[in-house]
Amino acid sequence: MVNNAHVFVVDATTFPVHRDRLFCGVKNPYNENTRHGLYADLFAVRPGDLVFFYQSRIDEPRKERGFRGIYRPISPPFFDKSNVRGFGDSRTLTVYGKCPNPKCREPYSLKSGKAGALGSRKCPICKKEHGQHILPNRVLIAPVSYYLYPVDDNTAYINHTNHGMLWTMLFRKTFGAGRARSITHILPEEAQKLARLLRRVNNNNASESYEFKRYKEPDQVIKKRIELDLGPGPETKFESSLEAWIIRNIDKNVPILSEIVGPREELEYFGNNVLYGIGGEKVDILCLHKKAGVRYKATVIELKKGRVPEEALSQIEDYAYWIGQLSTANVATPIEKLDIQPVLIGRGATPNLKKKLVSFKPWSFPIPLATKCNATVKEPILLAYEVSKKAISFDRTNN
Ligand SMILES: [Zn+2]
Repeated sequence: MVNNAHVFVVDATTFPVHRDRLFCGVKNPYNENTRHGLYADLFAVRPGDLVFFYQSRIDEPRKERGFRGIYRPISPPFFDKSNVRGFGDSRTLTVYGKCPNPKCREPYSLKSGKAGALGSRKCPICKKEHGQHILPNRVLIAPVSYYLYPVDDNTAYINHTNHGMLWTMLFRKTFGAGRARSITHILPEEAQKLARLLRRVNNNNASESYEFKRYKEPDQVIKKRIELDLGPGPETKFESSLEAWIIRNIDKNVPILSEIVGPREELEYFGNNVLYGIGGEKVDILCLHKKAGVRYKATVIELKKGRVPEEALSQIEDYAYWIGQLSTANVATPIEKLDIQPVLIGRGATPNLKKKLVSFKPWSFPIPLATKCNATVKEPILLAYEVSKKAISFDRTNN
């Protein structure tokens, strides 16, 4: 069963509205490539997952910053450019779905000025500096346990009196603004840690009496599905389009892709753009698989819009050791044996890669945790993709 959890970045002007009107909103970049990257992040969110907020701006009071929660998505992602007014404590605030300039009303986020300077962020259509976040890509949520006080950064990242680590979030912080994303998928063990810390900071008291006013019901958003334009094919418009399509359909029984992902009941987690290194190293898609309560496999999918080059093999060498640790170090049930299954997806492969794949030798290495784990990197699976009729099909080109 999938146990995905997501952290949405908010600030002091947007969080109160999301909290009181029960939705998450994310930007809508005018640049299509960037927008498809954001869709990839958003398409991983499914009803039944967990949602946390992270209130992040440096200029906010320290006690207001940090992780908040806990919520559950109750709708698929949808597009809605209506402006949402707060309620109760947030009644003076509005989350916009479109440009506030009455002559414009276009649903695109502000575009950064030179070097991302805050003062010169403009609407990409009318060029007005209106200073509002435009957040028309949305998901409806319901509170699971609403905690009044956030978990601050020090408690989350450097306090050693609670076990576990928030690796995937920490790597985003280390990078600074450039690598920040509005949604980060966190591993099941990281979500457990955040929930533990929220309980601790709030002395185990979830607020029972907090009043919410949902801005829409799930049946009102069904027709507002976000369209992903793949282009005429056979190649996708951008690599981010391929990523977004796969993330949206990863658990939908797509032929061949579903064989890679394996039985749904064993799929414990999937996420895109998963960071594993201080230098910003990432894998495109990570799936974790669990059998009889124990994680046993990590599937790492690397995507190429065009042909997969031979460098893909050195990439596997780069990530294997770190993904091995990321997948095993903080789990509640120790893992003795982990398979790492590399998957390469592109419009076929270069002749050099094909040649090298033939002589690929799986290798193993120990991960000396409290319970020693042995990790094995399996022979890569190569898939060729093709866009036709607004969908993507896959073909297995080796083994
Ligand atoms: Zn405008």
